[in-house]
Amino acid sequence: MPPVVPHLYGIPGFCQPVSSLSHLVAAAGACLAAIPLIRLGKGSSARMIALAVYAVCVISLLAISGTYHSLNHGGPARAFMQHVDYFAIWLLIAGTFTAVHGVMCRGFWRSGVLTLIWGYAAAGIVLQILWFKFFSGVPGLVLYLGLGWAGLVSIVKLGRQIGFRAVRPLWYAGIFFSAGAVLEAVRQPVVIRNWVGPHEIFHLAVIVGVMIHWLFIRKLVLQYAPGAALPSGAYDAAALTGVIPVA
Ligand SMILES: [Zn+2]
Repeated sequence: MPPVVPHLYGIPGFCQPVSSLSHLVAAAGACLAAIPLIRLGKGSSARMIALAVYAVCVISLLAISGTYHSLNHGGPARAFMQHVDYFAIWLLIAGTFTAVHGVMCRGFWRSGVLTLIWGYAAAGIVLQILWFKFFSGVPGLVLYLGLGWAGLVSIVKLGRQIGFRAVRPLWYAGIFFSAGAVLEAVRQPVVIRNWVGPHEIFHLAVIVGVMIHWLFIRKLVLQYAPGAALPSGAYDAAALTGVIPVA
């Protein structure tokens, strides 16, 4: 997303250091965590694919965003990566739905819902390709939040399967993403002048939201997905919790 605080100080190689490095470091962390997460899905190819799609989407968003914010203003590279940065947000949202519904659901709740979600994301990308200036502003934010908060349906669906206490992390992550996006839209606060403004806060909120989702999805595979490949030591915990059948 474009910078909203003028006169940010850069460091060599990084035009917007905090925005760039925060997401690049998070991308590296997600790369390290991806293989163990995908391996947890062993026993079901659909589950492993859902987790792999999710991991690729998370890593793509973070790596693209970190790269984009490292580039100097002006020039075609920055302009191109700005577009890709916006497209990647759709990947993150749709990828997260893919993990949750791919691991926990079957039938319409997996294939039907994910078709709708990815259709919405694809439509969002097309709108941004056609009218980037308009849909990179508040209208775009409304579309992003609209898809994200379609997750209320997932919360209700999943809450009925595994209990509404267990799905609380989905609320927490949604609040972090939304609060970060709203602060970005209203261009507040400036925490450290010339270094940490609303966009940097937004990036940190995204990292926290992604971490909450990631740990939640890991827990879904470990505790609630039938036939999950549990690491040694996790069987007892899963047995105590009870494996909840999918619907
Ligand atoms: Zn950004």
